[in-house]
Amino acid sequence: MPYVYKCRDIGYDCSFEFKAQMEKDLMPRIRIHARYAHNIFEMSPEMEKKVQGSFKEEK
Ligand SMILES: [Zn+2]
Repeated sequence: MPYVYKCRDIGYDCSFEFKAQMEKDLMPRIRIHARYAHNIFEMSPEMEKKVQGSFKEEK
């Protein structure tokens, strides 16, 4: 089952969603999105935790 990340799940008013077969494949893509869409060039450890905590396994 793919893992899904949605910006909305961590409180952004943003329609970005990304799916990956492996949980570890989400983070690199999210970093790129955060950079161009939210001007986040370095994620804080708190934010990384928040992002990782929001991943959902799609049923
Ligand atoms: Zn976003």
